[in-house]
Amino acid sequence: MQSYEEMRERLAQIPDLELSLNEPLAAHTRFGIGGRAALLADASSEAAFIEALRVAQAGGRRWLVIGSGTNLVVSDAGFDGVVIRFSGARITGDGRRIEVEAGASLQALVDFAIERGGAGLERMTGIPGQVGAAIYGNAGAYGSSMADFVRFVRVFDGKNVQKMASEAVLFRYRSSIFKQRKDWLILSAELECPSGDPMELRARAEEIRAIRDAKYPPAMRCAGSIFKNQLFDELPPRARAAVPPEIIKGGKVPSAWFLDVTGVKGLRHGGVRVADYHANLIYNDGGATARELREVIDELKRRVRERFGLELEEEVQFVGFEALPGLDTLEQTPRVLDSLLAGMSEEDLHWQPAPGRWSAAEVLAHLAHAEECCFGARLRAFLTQDGPEFADYDAEDFRGAPLDGAMVRLRGARRANLDLLAAAPASAALRTARHRGLGRVTLREQLNEWAFHDLGHIRQIAEIVRARRYYEGMGPWRAEYEVKP
Ligand SMILES: Cc1cc2nc3c(=O)[nH]c(=O)nc-3n(C[C@H](O)[C@H](O)[C@H](O)COP(=O)(O)OP(=O)(O)OC[C@H]3O[C@@H](n4cnc5c(N)ncnc54)[C@H](O)[C@@H]3O)c2cc1C
Repeated sequence: MQSYEEMRERLAQIPDLELSLNEPLAAHTRFGIGGRAALLADASSEAAFIEALRVAQAGGRRWLVIGSGTNLVVSDAGFDGVVIRFSGARITGDGRRIEVEAGASLQALVDFAIERGGAGLERMTGIPGQVGAAIYGNAGAYGSSMADFVRFVRVFDGKNVQKMASEAVLFRYRSSIFKQRKDWLILSAELECPSGDPMELRARAEEIRAIRDAKYPPAMRCAGSIFKNQLFDELPPRARAAVPPEIIKGGKVPSAWFLDVTGVKGLRHGGVRVADYHANLIYNDGGATARELREVIDELKRRVRERFGLELEEEVQFVGFEALPGLDTLEQTPRVLDSLLAGMSEEDLHWQPAPGRWSAAEVLAHLAHAEECCFGARLRAFLTQDGPEFADYDAEDFRGAPLDGAMVRLRGARRANLDLLAAAPASAALRTARHRGLGRVTLREQLNEWAFHDLGHIRQIAEIVRARRYYEGMGPWRAEYEVKP
């Protein structure tokens, strides 16, 4: 694998390419959130765009193409790799047939079509971002989407440039084949539009612009709608039964309706806010972190899942979150435990399922202790030392951990540990330690192990709650149920 310095030297030889090392991605996303990219490469010609990708691939580094960053949620840790952008923005044609480079802004394409009497694209007035990304996500509004106009897309598939007919692009609602083929570059496209009167098209565009500006003020740090809308026919039965018929438009149901019912409008968490007039609009109200944004997104999904059995799907694209495994579990554990233990009395918490088996309070004390001492200590060692050495945990250490306030301690220590992880670069997942019994372990493996540790104890508490809550008369468990604490 090449160092970024070596890679920069190779990239610097490519004409029409500008480079920045360690570039803050918050400055390149509309949310204004996100850590740094190891290298940002800005290509102003198609040849430079393709060549930059080849060099990044040959250097063995991860890479990613972005457009204007209006639909991206970048992690606080940023992206440990090469971020490539394309600014080739040529647009040619007569309004009915248009050729456009992927780096053109969608608005420039819309204006080009309107001026030359190409109809339909005016409905996309005000959708921010580049044409390449609009094809990638089949962007659309007011009943039109890119799929209605795109006839061919030229792509670089890692080896060759190929011209794909629109059928091969597999356009669907806010989707295309490019969401599966993230390793392909969209270079340019050919579009066809029916004819229209430029004056009428302009008037319609201005109406739409006014509506959109009221909904998404131009300075708002957001990504438009966070979640895709729902296709009515694909809703699970509970959700379908709840939907009032008058809100179904063109077979679609706004996700905002499901969110609104769960009372999320105006919800605030750190610097993140759900708009008080639109439940599917989340914005950075100042100083928001990607972690807070993820937590709000998760909370909204949870509410809709629990109420309607419906899994909302994000329209936004996540960058730099994938490197650290197990984080979802680690983040959710305190919440899962809270909901499991809701309504349990002190007596219930201290109820011992069998001689020698832990009560729920003891399991919590163990988790809090493990979090404060074992997890926290190892995590700090991983992040601050070069190849630290670990011995087995001492099981005796866990006995006699204080029961008081264990849940509060667990939550506090978990938060502190997750904050450390959020601030660590994505490459931290590959940091290694030596374990006396196991040999070399990576932080990635260790996180996985911690997540499994959580899951084991969640199950243990769930069993205790089940016995206590639903089998009141149940005495100590029979011997054959006995497992080690
Ligand atoms: C205020 C606001 C309103 C919005 N309203 C709408 C709306 O009405 N309808 C709608 O559909 N969307 C809407 N969006 C979402 C967003 O504008 C679109 O998704 C847009 O297409 C993203 O363009 P971008 O250049 O910013 O792409 P980015 O956010 O930078 O990237 C999006 C994705 O495109 C991929 N990509 C970009 N360029 C290329 C390329 N050349 N080759 C391969 N992959 C590429 C990236 O890898 C990334 O996964 C809105 C966003 C905002 C902020």
